[in-house]
Amino acid sequence: MSDRPIAVVTGASSGIGAATARALAAAGFHVVLGARRVDRCEAIAEEVDGTALPLDVTDRSSVAEFVAAVPESVRVLVNNAGGAKGLEPVEEADEADWTWMFEVNVLGTLRVVQGLLPKLRASGDGHIVTVTSIAALAPYDKGAGYTGAKHAQAMLHRTLRGELLGEPIRLTEILPGMVETEFSLVRLGDQEKADDVYKGLTPLTAEDVADVIAFATTRPSHVNLDQIVLKPRAQADAMRAYREG
Ligand code: NAP
Repeated sequence: MSDRPIAVVTGASSGIGAATARALAAAGFHVVLGARRVDRCEAIAEEVDGTALPLDVTDRSSVAEFVAAVPESVRVLVNNAGGAKGLEPVEEADEADWTWMFEVNVLGTLRVVQGLLPKLRASGDGHIVTVTSIAALAPYDKGAGYTGAKHAQAMLHRTLRGELLGEPIRLTEILPGMVETEFSLVRLGDQEKADDVYKGLTPLTAEDVADVIAFATTRPSHVNLDQIVLKPRAQADAMRAYREG
């Protein structure tokens, strides 16, 4: 595929994943981009001289086909595919939204990690980066489905840190606060409501997060950045942000 080291990015068709694919390509990686909207991945792959592959992390056979098409040696895996659906109190939560969130964020990460671990090992210097969220740090009102899924995804990732100790595989968890991507559109299903989420403040951009991921993956092999929390200056936590006007 290439003599550059391989970086795999899931959910690379938009937002943080797309920006991460570009940042890792700029850092010298051959990037393999996976998502359901593979046409979008193809456009980015063409731009960065990478490879686009279809990937639905909720579908075991799609993950198996994706893993089989990835080269035998993988230096970096970015578990980025994920998101939220709904913003309701527990009493009114939609079970289908919860199923979607746990399937994509938690089981999706499990499937991809299980599939690619042998190839990360084979590189002799693997690195698993998982994009969880500040939702993996504490609960917030109307967010139990997402905070629950992100906590579970974080536990999978943090558990691996211990289980892989002694192996040449680093683990970095990225915990962003508010980032303006398609995230809120997917969550709320309405562009006006999505725009309101970022009203009166300057959110992080996908490139801000990608920059941090590229930094973490380009440190010397003995340096493991375990957890990186990044938020807009105007956001203290998931429940508190300062808005102008
Ligand atoms: P986004 O623009 O909506 O991107 C989400 C990505 O996940 C898309 O590329 C989407 O691709 C992919 N995805 C969704 N379902 C998938 C599936 N079944 N199989 C494969 N890929 C799938 O949102 P984003 O903000 O960049 O989100 C990226 C990650 O950051 C998520 O894990 C999210 O939870 C996390 N995060 C976001 C924020 C924020 O404020 N934006 C904050 C903290 C953490 P396809 O639809 O093409 O499959």
